[in-house]
Amino acid sequence: MHSTMILLGVLFGLLTQVYTLPVKNSTGVHEGKVRLKRKYSDEITDRDEMNAMDQILEINRRLRAPRGLSIRDGDIAASYIRSAITCPGNACLWPKSVDGFVYVPFMISPLYDDMDRITIETGMQDIAAGTCIKFVPRTHEVNFLDIQPRYGCWSFLGQTGGSQTLSLQTPGCMWSGVAAHEFMHALGFVHEQSRSDRDHYVSIVWKNIMPDHIHNFRKQVTNNLNSPYDYNSVMHYGRYAFSEDGGPTIIPRPDPYIPIGQRDGPSNLDLHKINVLYDCGVNE
Ligand SMILES: [Zn+2]
Repeated sequence: MHSTMILLGVLFGLLTQVYTLPVKNSTGVHEGKVRLKRKYSDEITDRDEMNAMDQILEINRRLRAPRGLSIRDGDIAASYIRSAITCPGNACLWPKSVDGFVYVPFMISPLYDDMDRITIETGMQDIAAGTCIKFVPRTHEVNFLDIQPRYGCWSFLGQTGGSQTLSLQTPGCMWSGVAAHEFMHALGFVHEQSRSDRDHYVSIVWKNIMPDHIHNFRKQVTNNLNSPYDYNSVMHYGRYAFSEDGGPTIIPRPDPYIPIGQRDGPSNLDLHKINVLYDCGVNE
């Protein structure tokens, strides 16, 4: 009888703990929900002000490259810049499996909380839902993404081989569109305005760019995958990226008022380009 009472007491204690946990954590959960909710119902003013790249540059403002690496174009980690889309033999693409899917194994740092994980996995899902890319938890694979809350939001370009860090700082980078942006770098995509044909679609206002950052606006030799230029790409710099004095650095042409970029997630054209690059067999 006595031991039963003790057991009941222990059980009651456990239950009390279980019931009080959500209350203790409610602030964190609530904040997470707010972050997630904004993905779907952004205030118009916010949406007008910042796209995914603006958000990334804001967080990366004081980013110093991790040891042994350089950060190029705002958020691409490299020892040298390479345009994965033209990399020899497509060696920097993730390999396609015989079942037609491209499996990208990942590990997520235990330092993230549940809502961070949901935000990151929403970024993965937004890509996976429209393409043949499948992000899968790593089991034994040699090549994988190691997602960590390091300083800043950044990724390597394409598959580097082995473990490759993809940094999504929390809370600054915790937007599913920002996560999707970094995942697209890891899939081999450079920024939209780095395209070889960009001068037909945007004017770069060189005099407005901070002198130290002019290199972030160079064009690259890219395979444009027979796809139209995409002002709405989640990979596009914002209109005021790296502005010295608040003036625009990128102006669409011929219509200067076309909105540039967004942070909701990959655009339809972004998904289309992934499907073309990875030969997903989707005719869009
Ligand atoms: Zn980027």
